[in-house]
Amino acid sequence: MPVRHDTVARSAREVDVLREVDVVVAGGGAAGVAAAVCAARAGASVVLLERNGFLGGTMTSTSLGGICGLYSLIDGEPVQMVHGFAEEVRDRLDRAGGIRGALPWLQTASLPYDLFIMKSVLDDLAETERLTVLYQARLVEAGVEDGRIRHVIVRGRGGLFAIRANAFIDCTGDGELAAMAGVATEYDRASLQFPTAMFRMGGVDTTVAMKVPRDEMHRLLEQAVTDGYDLPRTAGGIYSVRDGIVHLNITKVKVDGHTPDTFDPIELSEAEREGRRQARLYLEVFRRYVPGYANAYILDTGAELGIRETRRIVGPHVLTSDDVLKERKFDDAIAANCWPIEDHGGGRSTRWVWLSPGGYNHIPYRALLPMGVRNLLVAGRCLSSTHDAQAAIRVTANCFSTGQAAGLAAVMAGSGDMASVDIKSLQAALKAGGVNLAPMPETANA
Ligand SMILES: Cc1cc2nc3c(=O)[nH]c(=O)nc-3n(C[C@H](O)[C@H](O)[C@H](O)COP(=O)(O)OP(=O)(O)OC[C@H]3O[C@@H](n4cnc5c(N)ncnc54)[C@H](O)[C@@H]3O)c2cc1C
Repeated sequence: MPVRHDTVARSAREVDVLREVDVVVAGGGAAGVAAAVCAARAGASVVLLERNGFLGGTMTSTSLGGICGLYSLIDGEPVQMVHGFAEEVRDRLDRAGGIRGALPWLQTASLPYDLFIMKSVLDDLAETERLTVLYQARLVEAGVEDGRIRHVIVRGRGGLFAIRANAFIDCTGDGELAAMAGVATEYDRASLQFPTAMFRMGGVDTTVAMKVPRDEMHRLLEQAVTDGYDLPRTAGGIYSVRDGIVHLNITKVKVDGHTPDTFDPIELSEAEREGRRQARLYLEVFRRYVPGYANAYILDTGAELGIRETRRIVGPHVLTSDDVLKERKFDDAIAANCWPIEDHGGGRSTRWVWLSPGGYNHIPYRALLPMGVRNLLVAGRCLSSTHDAQAAIRVTANCFSTGQAAGLAAVMAGSGDMASVDIKSLQAALKAGGVNLAPMPETANA
């Protein structure tokens, strides 16, 4: 075991500058791909840094399998609420045979997708002339002078290198660049959502399994608990895009009974192991209790634990649960969210707090602006929000939307300040990119 409360000196040395570009985007998840592609299409030279060897972040590295936040369920029918870059991804997935159509469940709907086709679609999107994607490139340091980031230091497989840019966008999900640059962030270990180890089962009779209603599955898993199985969760999501194969969002990973601190190397490692242990436990239970799973096996677990929440920046506007649930609209709107608060807390089920059917709130530009660093924007699940609001805005469609806005705004800011971007021009550029900030007439909650 390492000594936990000791320090060693770290030597500073010169680092080669690999590129000098207009915009650096850190993190190639939903937000980062949208930001980088949209910035490049708007004419900027862009470097996208991704620590994995593929794009997609949580969408592809955790074996996720469904895009949430695209639809509202109105009279039992999925109605598309989010357009723009998210719609482009959906259309490309469709053309490549990577989706089967929207899946209604509870009071909403999501879009199951094929994992490999998602990776390929994102690769294709990133083939924009002015965009360089650097894989296996981990951001490790930010060089800040006079309130501006001048360069970032990156660890590649061969060692360290630097990238200089005018503008930076943090899409790391963890607010890594923001924290390195010293802006205010929040990380409240006590209230963090629990992570989930996502996994896929093969050998499933999906003609039977996909017809088991959610409440029946919940009842069967509660029965397993009564019979002595220590299941941390008895309600979850199951998607299928291929016959015989299902994605399961059903584990809830605790370490010593609490939410793991995934920034602590010891707790994170324990959590990774615990996730795989739970996958084996659920396999046994599903085989025994749930119709369609008698011959199931674990096809794979995600390459990493699915982490829902870590740092969130504290910007000039902190999006709140009231903003979400009262479906607030803002003059500086850059995205429309229709996803409910979906909070994976301590119990065996998930806390859902719904918007009205067809209802949506705006995400304001101010929620992407960190305080104290003038040439940085933050998009995706780590934007400025409270714990509850993050539980709604973190889903994929919203990450595409906020990434798209950040990419366009960074190009408009050029070498100026992000706070001085003209909102009307940004909204016009979003509209030109297919974004609809008023996807429905005003509703009762508004
Ligand atoms: C278990 C689980 C289940 C979920 N289920 C759904 C669902 O069914 N549908 C849905 O829509 N949403 C779901 N979500 C939420 C959603 O998937 C994520 O919130 C969303 O994908 C986050 O996107 P992002 O781009 O903000 O961040 P991320 O997906 O976290 O992407 C961040 C990227 O940055 C990279 N990165 C991080 N640090 C560095 C660094 N220092 N240097 C270089 N690269 C770095 C990462 O490798 C990653 O690619 C789920 C989340 C979890 C955890």
